[in-house]
Amino acid sequence: MSSPAYPHLLAPLDLGFTMLRNRVLMGSMHTGLEDRARHYPRLAAYFRERAEGGVGLMVTGGMAPTLRGWLAPLASSMVCRHQVSRHRQVTSAVHDAGGKICMQVLHAGRYGYHPFVVSASRRQSPISPFRPKALSARGVEREIRGFVRASVLARDAGYDGVEIMGSEGYLINQFTTGHVNDRTDAWGGTNEKRYRIAEEIVARVREAVGPDFILIYRLSMLDLLPDGNAWDEIVAQAHAVESAGATLINTGIGWHEARIPTIATMVPRGAFTFVTARLKPEVSVPLVTTNRINTPEVAEAALARGEADMVSMARPLLADAAFVNKAARGEAHRINTCIACNQACLDHSFRNQTASCLVNPRACHETELQILPTAHPRRVAVVGAGPAGLACATTAAERGHAVSLFEQAGEIGGQFNMAKRVPGKEEFHETLRYFRERLAETGVELHLGTVADEAILADFDEVILATGVHPRVPGIPGLDHASVLSYLDVLRGDAHVGEHVAIIGAGGIGFDVAEFLAHDPEQPSPSLSREAFAKDWGIDLGLHARGGVAGVDAHPQPAFRRITLLQRKDSKPGKGLGKTTGWIHRMNLKRRGIEAVSGVRYLKVDDDGLHIQLGEERRVLKADNVIVCAGQLPNRELAEALAEAGVKARLIGGAYEARELDAKYAIRQGTEVAAGL
Ligand code: NAP
Ligand code: SF4
Repeated sequence: MSSPAYPHLLAPLDLGFTMLRNRVLMGSMHTGLEDRARHYPRLAAYFRERAEGGVGLMVTGGMAPTLRGWLAPLASSMVCRHQVSRHRQVTSAVHDAGGKICMQVLHAGRYGYHPFVVSASRRQSPISPFRPKALSARGVEREIRGFVRASVLARDAGYDGVEIMGSEGYLINQFTTGHVNDRTDAWGGTNEKRYRIAEEIVARVREAVGPDFILIYRLSMLDLLPDGNAWDEIVAQAHAVESAGATLINTGIGWHEARIPTIATMVPRGAFTFVTARLKPEVSVPLVTTNRINTPEVAEAALARGEADMVSMARPLLADAAFVNKAARGEAHRINTCIACNQACLDHSFRNQTASCLVNPRACHETELQILPTAHPRRVAVVGAGPAGLACATTAAERGHAVSLFEQAGEIGGQFNMAKRVPGKEEFHETLRYFRERLAETGVELHLGTVADEAILADFDEVILATGVHPRVPGIPGLDHASVLSYLDVLRGDAHVGEHVAIIGAGGIGFDVAEFLAHDPEQPSPSLSREAFAKDWGIDLGLHARGGVAGVDAHPQPAFRRITLLQRKDSKPGKGLGKTTGWIHRMNLKRRGIEAVSGVRYLKVDDDGLHIQLGEERRVLKADNVIVCAGQLPNRELAEALAEAGVKARLIGGAYEARELDAKYAIRQGTEVAAGL
C-alpha cells in the first residue's frame, strides 16, 4: 500500500524474487562500528532502529574484500568465515524488525590509508600519502575473487544482498577511467577493457550468489574530474553491469579527490538527481538516485518526476531513524532533518571516531544513550533556548519531567538564529522547526522574553543553565571606535556594514561572517538553486563535458565587499573547521577574492582602519568596519547569582565550556544531562 502523502516514495518495489516495502534505500555510511567484532551488538541496534523506522532497504558501511582493499589498517573487512557470525547479529536484528539489508563490498584501492595499497596503476592519489602498487594480471584476478568471496560470505551471514562499490574513486573506479588507469593489458587501454573489471565482478558475484540475492552496483555517474568518464562511457558501463546481473544501479557522484562539494550543506537539495534521470531511459533495472535528499518532499518529487525508482539517503536516517514511518503517518513536520553539516558523521569517520549525528546524538549510540521514562518525575527549569537548552528541555519532558524553559529573547534557537542567515546554512531552519515541534509535543512550558532569576528558579527541583556565551572582547586599543562591530551585530542583521571590512578572528564564526558579508543580498543563495550552484562550481548540467567538468569554467560570485579575514596564529586560517567541509569554506573564500592573513599582531583601530603588524612590517587595513569574531566566553552571570542565593544549578553548553562551544557538543550534552535526570 502506498501512502497518500508520498505515493511514489512509499510504494513497494518488486525486484522479482523479493519485494521492498518502499523506495527508501539507506545508503552506505561508515560508522566505525563495523571495524571491531565487539561493536557489532551496537551496530545491530543501530540498524534495528532504522528497520523499525520503516526503511525499505539498508546498506552497511563498506567491507573490504581483501586486506589490500582496507580503508585503513584493521578496518572493516569480509575476508574469512570466522567473520560471518558477527554479521549475523546485524542481519537477525534487521530481519526481526521487518527490514532488509545488503552488505557493501568496498575495495579502497589507492584511497587506502596503509602501505599495502594497490590500484590499476602506480598513480598516487592526492588524498593519501601512500603510493599504490599496480596490480599484476594475477593480482587483478585475486582481488576479483575477493569480491566474490566477500559476497558469498555476506549471503551466509544472512544479508539480503550486496552492494558493489564502483564509485567515489575507489578501486573499481580507478580502473574505469583513464585518470588512474594507464594499463595496456586486458584491464586497460580501451574503454571496454577499463570497465571490464566492473563487469567481471558483477558477473562472477551473480554466478556465485545465485539469482535470488540483491546485487546493487554503485556506478560513478559523474566523476567530477576533467579526465573522468564521458557520458557515453558511463552508459556503456551501466549496460555492462546490467547485463552481468545487477539488480539495482545506485548513483555515485564525484570522486573523493574532486574539488567540488557534492554532499555538504551548501549543495542544493536534490542537486544531482538529474544525472540519474539521464540514465533512466538507457537501462531496465531500477535506478537509485542520491546526494542531498533530506526530506520526504524532495525524495517524492524526484520519484514523481520519474528520475529514479528509489532514493538513497544515509545521513537523513542517522538524523532520524523514524524518518520513513513519520512520512508515512503524514508527520513529516516531526522529522529531525539532516542539515548536511558532516560534523558528527563523516568528520568523525575521517578521524577514526565512531560516527554520530549533530542533531541526533543517539545515532550509533543507541545502546548507550537511552531516553527512558522516569520513575521520579520532577519539576525541571531550563534557562536558555539555544541548542543545549532545547535538547535538554525536550528530552527531559519526553521522559516525563515537568519542564519549564525560560528564554530572554523573543524566539527559540540562540546561535542557530545567526547560523541560519549565513548563505549555505539555510538547513538550520529545519532544526529550529524540529525543536518547535518537539517543545509542543513533549509539553515543555515555554517562557519567551523572560529573564529567569533566583526568585523564579528557587521553586524547581532541578535547574539547568544553558545560558550560552558572550563574545570575547580582545584587549586591542580602539575597539570602542564607531567602526567596530561584534559578529552579533552583523549576523543579527541590524548593523549597516560598509564596503571595506576587516574581520578579527578566523574561526568558525569569522568564516561565517565572511561568507555572510561576501554575499550580495539581492542575489539568491547558490545553495538554493541547482543552476546557480552548477555555474558557481563549473558543472555541466548538459553532461556533455568529460567527467561533467572538463573545459567548464567555474563562475563563483565575486565577493560583494572587500573583506580581509585575520588571525594571530601562523597556521592556515580555517584549519580548525570540519575535516570534510573546511576545504570548501577555505576554497570558497579564496575563489571569491577574500584575503585571509595569518600571523597578525593587532595594534589598534582608528579612523584610518585596522593597524596590524605582520612580521617586521606594519600595515593599515582600510576598514569601514572592523568585525570582532574572537571566540567566546561562558555566560555565567545567572549561575553566580544562583550560587549566592543558594539555588543549586548545573551548567550545560557554552555556559559550561565556551571553548568547546559548538552545536554538536551542546546538543549531545543537553541530551545526556536530561537522560540522566
Ligand atoms: P573559534 O573557532 O575558537 O575562533 C576564535 C577566533 O578568534 C580564532 O580565529 C582566534 O584566532 C581568534 N582569537 C581568539 N582570542 C583572540 C583574542 N584575544 N584576540 C584576537 N583574536 C582572538 O571560535 P568561534 O569562531 O567563535 O566559533 C565558536 C564555535 O562555533 C567553534 O567551536 C566553532 O567550531 C563553531 N562553529 C563552527 C563553524 C563551522 O565549522 N563552519 C561555524 C560557526 C561556528 P587567533 O587566536 O589565532 O587570533
Ligand atoms: Fe546530517 Fe550533520 Fe547529522 Fe551528519 S552530523 S547526519 S550531516 S545532521
